[in-house]
Amino acid sequence: MVIKVGIVGYGTIGKRVADAVRKMDDMELVGAVKQNPDYEGEVAVSKGIRLYTYEDKVGKFEKAGIKVSGTINELLRSIDVVIDATPDGVGAENKAKLYEPMKLKAIFQGGEEAEVAEVSFNALANYDMAVGKRFVRVVSCNTTALSRLISAFLIHGYRIRRVRAYIVRRGADPREFKKGPINDVVFNPATVPSHHGPDVMTVIPSVNIITMAVAVPTTMMHLHMVNVEFDGQISRGEAIKVLEETPRILLFNASSKKFESLAQVIEWARDIGRPRGDVFENAVIEDSITASQNELFLMQGVHQESIVVPENIDAVRAMMGLTDKWSSIRKTDEVLGLITTNKNYALA
Ligand code: NAD
Repeated sequence: MVIKVGIVGYGTIGKRVADAVRKMDDMELVGAVKQNPDYEGEVAVSKGIRLYTYEDKVGKFEKAGIKVSGTINELLRSIDVVIDATPDGVGAENKAKLYEPMKLKAIFQGGEEAEVAEVSFNALANYDMAVGKRFVRVVSCNTTALSRLISAFLIHGYRIRRVRAYIVRRGADPREFKKGPINDVVFNPATVPSHHGPDVMTVIPSVNIITMAVAVPTTMMHLHMVNVEFDGQISRGEAIKVLEETPRILLFNASSKKFESLAQVIEWARDIGRPRGDVFENAVIEDSITASQNELFLMQGVHQESIVVPENIDAVRAMMGLTDKWSSIRKTDEVLGLITTNKNYALA
């Protein structure tokens, strides 16, 4: 069975998910909806992606010489599931205006409120909850990374008493030239907890987590400083073994491999030929992993532009009942070129 997928919102997330869908042999990208004709649209068409737009915008595309294959309604009528990657809040409007009346299955992104969907999704944490569902929200980049990290230990049978995470957020994505800060550290927000902790609890309700966040002048990645307290003792070696074998988590070693900054993680992704230099995995800094009795400390980098891409693919499979959790995760990882060496795709 090949699932027909459409994308609404062709920006940072939408264009990456579009490319990922095109690589899957059990999915077909029917097209993507863009609002405005620009260089991104031109590149999409040159790659063979069919673009759709709003009826009143067709003329603008024609004037810019960018081919349009039809209107948004035509696209939505010809697909099994829509992946909405529009800016925060627009997805909920589209749901009410378009997807609900058209009885279409829809995947939303982390900028939407949890209430937009039946399930807030992370493949490692709760794939099965999304099976057969009509509306699923793939949680944000920070929530995805924290959910994966926590799930790694839960899947391995560890009992977590509480998680405290301090988030240093990138100020903007690389292409967002109007956003900042450019010379500041912004309380993001000043209140505690930041929204990330409660958001993780929409995926893993049983976890006791509090987060704090600031935004800084970089566009590369977020950095998390995480403290996990377990019910029993944990050793550094045990923690490393858990993280080494959990899919979508990678260890970067500062002392032996000279990974001393997030810029080097991005450079690694570029060097190994990842599309756009994307890092789909949690980038855990191995040397930061420290255990003290029942507490674990570590730092991880989060590539905000790409970390949710694998989860969008798995969400399609879960909603359409295509396959089980581990088969989907393995297939997504292999096709997208995530590091699969030493990963265990038969965990609990
Ligand atoms: P973006 O601004 O890069 O892209 C959104 C695109 O949607 C733009 O091209 C915009 O023109 C288009 N758009 C706006 N309204 C539209 C409409 N009505 N119909 C069709 N297209 C429309 O945004 P993004 O960073 O890709 O974020 C998309 C979603 O993903 C948000 O919910 C965001 O919170 C979430 N998310 C973003 C990141 C990130 O770091 N960029 C990470 C994870 C999740």
